[in-house]
Amino acid sequence: MQIKTFHNITALLLLITICILMPVNINTRAETSIYTNKPLIIIDPGHGGKDCGAQGLSGLKEKDFNLSLAFALKRKLKKDFKIVFTREADYFAGINSRADKANSNKDGIFISLHTGSVFTQNKTGNFLIGYYSSQPEKNNFPEIDTINRKHTQNSKKLAKSIYQVLSEKNTVSIFSAPFRMLGSVNMPAIIIEADNMNSPEGSIRLKHPDYIEKTAKSISMGIFKYFKMDQQQIF
Ligand SMILES: [Zn+2]
Repeated sequence: MQIKTFHNITALLLLITICILMPVNINTRAETSIYTNKPLIIIDPGHGGKDCGAQGLSGLKEKDFNLSLAFALKRKLKKDFKIVFTREADYFAGINSRADKANSNKDGIFISLHTGSVFTQNKTGNFLIGYYSSQPEKNNFPEIDTINRKHTQNSKKLAKSIYQVLSEKNTVSIFSAPFRMLGSVNMPAIIIEADNMNSPEGSIRLKHPDYIEKTAKSISMGIFKYFKMDQQQIF
């Protein structure tokens, strides 16, 4: 009789333990990174406040799309990376303040998010990925010596990693130019121009939440690729 009671209590305790621990284990597994040293990513949503950036055919303002894409990207990366924003809401932030914020952190990468308008009119792609170079492809930019020059090779590598994923479903071009924003940043840095606000198709796509999510997913997969990190499940 005593042995039976002991078994019953043991079974009850085991059941309670399973009920208490199981949901915790499942959640912990989903929310905890396998990486102890999380790389740093500075996300720079272009424009903001009085600086609206481009305005699309649909009335969408570039500053708003850039911020939406930035938050979507953060949601997909925050488990495995440290994330810093150069602006987190609709306010103006100048190039110097963005660069200072980025440069106060060490060993990160810098992703500046923009929406295509003028640039993409001369290109065929839905996306442009730019990195800093003091040797512009065309001679319409002055040559400038900047802090970012020493990171050109890694910036190019980062651009190519994101290109590999984005180009699976989109038309993507990579180009280099002496961008003022990227030139002031002391880490590998790229700019992504998403789609074309001035094309009828692009202006509709850019307003669609699914398109923002898919774009953020592709960019985040490219970032995993750059860091040679095993790709986790990205939602
Ligand atoms: Zn812009």
